[in-house]
Parts: sequence; structure tokens; C-alpha cells
Amino acid sequence: MLGAMQDWDLKVTHLIDHAAREHGTREIVTYWADGSETRTNWAGIRRDALKMTQALRAAGIGKGDRIATLAMNHSRHLVTWYGAVGVGGILHTINPRLFEDQLEYIANHAEDRVLLYDAAFQPIIDKMKPHWNTIEHYICFDSGDHSPSFEDWIAAYDDDTEWAEVDERDPCMLCYTSGTTGNPKGVLYEHRSTMLHAVLGIQPASFDFDARSVMLPVVPMFHAASWGLPWAGAATGVKFVYSAVNEPTVLCELMKREGVTHSAGVPTVWLSIFQHCDATGEPLPKLQQAIIGGSAAPRFMIERLMKNGARVAHAWGMTETSPIGTVGAPTHNWDELSFDEQVDIVTRQGQPIFGVELRTVDLDDFTRELPRDGKTSGALQIRGPWVIKRYFKAEEDATTPDGWFDTGDVGVIWPNGTLQLTDRTKDVIKSGGEWISSVELENAAVGHPAIAEAAAIGMPHPKWDERPVLFVVKKEGQDVSASEVKDYLSDHVAKWWLPDAVEFVDDIPHTATGKISKKDLRARFADYTLEA
Ligand code: AMP
Repeated sequence: MLGAMQDWDLKVTHLIDHAAREHGTREIVTYWADGSETRTNWAGIRRDALKMTQALRAAGIGKGDRIATLAMNHSRHLVTWYGAVGVGGILHTINPRLFEDQLEYIANHAEDRVLLYDAAFQPIIDKMKPHWNTIEHYICFDSGDHSPSFEDWIAAYDDDTEWAEVDERDPCMLCYTSGTTGNPKGVLYEHRSTMLHAVLGIQPASFDFDARSVMLPVVPMFHAASWGLPWAGAATGVKFVYSAVNEPTVLCELMKREGVTHSAGVPTVWLSIFQHCDATGEPLPKLQQAIIGGSAAPRFMIERLMKNGARVAHAWGMTETSPIGTVGAPTHNWDELSFDEQVDIVTRQGQPIFGVELRTVDLDDFTRELPRDGKTSGALQIRGPWVIKRYFKAEEDATTPDGWFDTGDVGVIWPNGTLQLTDRTKDVIKSGGEWISSVELENAAVGHPAIAEAAAIGMPHPKWDERPVLFVVKKEGQDVSASEVKDYLSDHVAKWWLPDAVEFVDDIPHTATGKISKKDLRARFADYTLEA
């Protein structure tokens, strides 16, 4: 027997329809790279997205076709998100910071047919065009010398049309992982998975959005589906304030002027805002909620934002999880905790939002489930309707036989459900059968006033299997010796965790998304040896 309720597929076009109908006058503000500003609203975004679907159809683009973007955050990019899915297509947001071989690989692998791009990335287009085999249409988001420009392209059509008929399990978006090993891999989101992620993402335990929320997303629209914000924001008619430039001067000014209540970005974004405010003496913008994810938010950052009145939602996720896995939200006993105890909890990576389940398993066998005791660390696995099953074009599933996705992260789960990440499975250091967290060593090291950046890797050791070696970049004009670093660390980590050697380097290699590339660091020090 089937239930007796209406058919209403979980399609993301419902989100924009709702936003335009119920919150049509809610503004979408853009600060453009040339310093100009424009204002539209949710009704305008929907109108332009419908025009765009007509323009795409006229170009022969339809269901299942990949429509790529190479662009920063702005209202035309938002139109494209809905225009691309509205024609039944698959939106593919490309990260312009990828290296050339990755750019070549992913556009060809995705078989993109259309590319919409910012004029600022014209040099990338000129260089890559001969290598991209499938792109037929190039459309520039900026007007001026560029032809065709986005505005001219859609202006030739009206909005008198319907969204394409799709099934809720049809794909709507494709994002590639940054690929620290091998080629980048594509994650193909569905209408249904995206819709569930958006609807559960707006709840108080997550983004905490309502119709009064004003969100300035600093997370780029090309990074992990911009954490789902363009979809989630439509569900509650959030006013979006976009900035096509990531200058802290501009961000702070916009936050104050536009009454921004929510913002989201990686830790370095918040750091640059702090530095700007400290240098100018400007007060830190007052926010209701600061969402921090992508890498671990340091304690001082959380403390400062909380003291300034913001709820800090420290979130963990990955491209493979759409991306939200966990978000820091008040726990059951929150109101009974001291400020410092609250900060302790927020320093961890939050709790799973409803819809996803987490577990940690033994790092040696990857199957035995570990206790949620706040002590035992293991490989972090996740399952849920917006978690990857199989990479784009892969033949095999990316899940364990019992249906969990192994994240490659290592963490501890606390009795109250809070996740605390301690490492990546590839980077955790095994010394004499015991695990040492490279991330905890690095976090402790960067607390030293003379250290700008640190990376710990396990080096082969004749007696212990592996021992940590810490690579350190000193702050400009500062000095510190290896033994001083070890002395400092001994106050913060167990004695047997102390690195066998501290090596000073001029720089530490990074991936295209700004994370430390241990793969490249290992390659650079392939001949390194430790004595017994
Ligand atoms: P990406 O798919 O590029 O977004 O990268 C996902 C990876 O970033 C995760 O597997 C984690 O290793 C890391 N990550 C994301 N959020 C956090 C966080 N809050 N703290 C520490 N690491 C994080």
C-alpha cells in the first residue's frame, strides 16, 4: 500500500520559486570587482534564471548537460545556479585557483558544454581554451569588450517559460574535490540530496536562517557548493550580500552598511578581518552568527568572535558531503557552562545535523566501531542522503560494504555527540603502534609567537616505524631555535609526541584550496632520514 499524499518532487527549482513568491523583494546586493554595486532581489534572480534557461535552450543545451562557471561571488553567478538547473542541466562550479593541469582535466572530464566566467579570469580562458575539448559556448559575466556578455545574452529572451521536467534523483550539480592525490574527483549532487541539505541546513542547529537573516558568504561559490548557501538562502528568503573581492576593508564595510547578521568563511578569512580591524582600530563587525569551516578554527578566533556577541558555528564537511556534516550549535547543557567551557566545545567541530550519521572506526582494521568517549580517535565515517555514493564516472562505489563513506579524516566523538577532528588518515603518525596527531602538533606549534606556519609529517624510523618531524616557517623578523620549539611544545603535548627533529623552511607547500600539501612536503623531503 502507498501513502496518500501529494507528489511534490524534491527539486531545487522549488527553492527559487518559493523565494520569488514569498520573499520576492528581499535584496541580493553585489559589490563588483570594479567597485560598483548593484541590487536585485529574489524575484529578479528568478526572472533572469528563466531567461537564461531560454538562452541555453536556444543554444541547444538541455537535460544532463554540464554548464560550468569560473567566477567569484555575485548575483549573476547566483542566476546561473538556478538557470543551469532550470534547463535540467548540471551546474559545474570550477575553482579558478586550481593548477592548469587540474583545470584541463576537470573541464574535459566533466564534458562541460558552456562556460560562464568573470572577465578577471580571461587570462585563464585564453590559456586553457586550446586544451578544453568540449566547451562550445563562452559567456562573460561582465559587459564591456566581452562578447557575448551575460546581460546581453539573456536580454534577448523573456521569462515566459517553465523549468525543465526532471526527476528528484536527477543530477543538478557537479563539484570536484581539490585532489591532494591523483586527479580531482567529481561529486554529482542530485536535486533531492541538495534539497534535503538545504532544508535541513537552515534550521537553528545549523545556519539558523530566517526571513530577517542577512548573509555575506565569503566562502566562494566554487568551493564545495558554497556550503549549500545559494540553495539554503532561497528557502528562507535570506538577503545575500555578495562581494566579488575578498578584501577585508570591503567585507567589513559591507557587513556594517548592509546590516549583515550571518557570514561564512574559512579561518584565514576571519584572520584577515581581525588584522584589518586591529590595524585600523575599527570595531569588529557585529554578527549574530559566524560560520567557520574548511579547516580547524583556532581557539583565539572562536573566543574573539564569541566575545563580540556572535554564535560561532564551527562546521566540518567535505565536497563529498554536500558539504555539511557537523555544525557547532549549543549543546543540551550550554546555559550551565562557563564561557571558557563553551569555547572548549566550539573549538571542536560541532555535532552532526539531522540527516547524517557519524561513526569512528579503528584505524587498524577500519571496521570495529569505537566508543564515543571523547578519548579514542579513529577513522571518521559518515552516511546520509547528501553523502556521496560513487564519484562521477567511477565504476565502483566509494562506500564501505555496509554503506558508510570513509572521510579520510581522523577524529574523536564525545559523549554529547561533538566531533573533534584530530588528523587525516594519511597524515596521522604511527609511532611504536600508537597514533600521534600531526594536526595537534601543528596547532600547538603555531601558538609560539615566532612561528608563522608548521607542518608535521611522519618520517620512517628504524625503531619506532615512524616519528614526527616538524617543519617550521618563522614569522618575518623573528627567531627561534629547534630546542626552543621543543621546549615550548612540551608544555602542550605528551612527551612521546615531541618531534624528533624541527626543520626550518622558507615555505610550506599548499594545495589549490590553500590547505597544507603534505604530499608535496613529503616529496620535497623524500631522502630525509632519522637515526635510531
Ligand atoms: P574539501 O572537500 O576541499 O572541502 O575538504 C574537506 C576536508 O577539509 C575535510 O575532509 C577535512 O579534512 C577538512 N575540514 C573541513 N572542515 C574542517 C574543520 N572545521 N576543521 C578541520 N578540518 C576541516
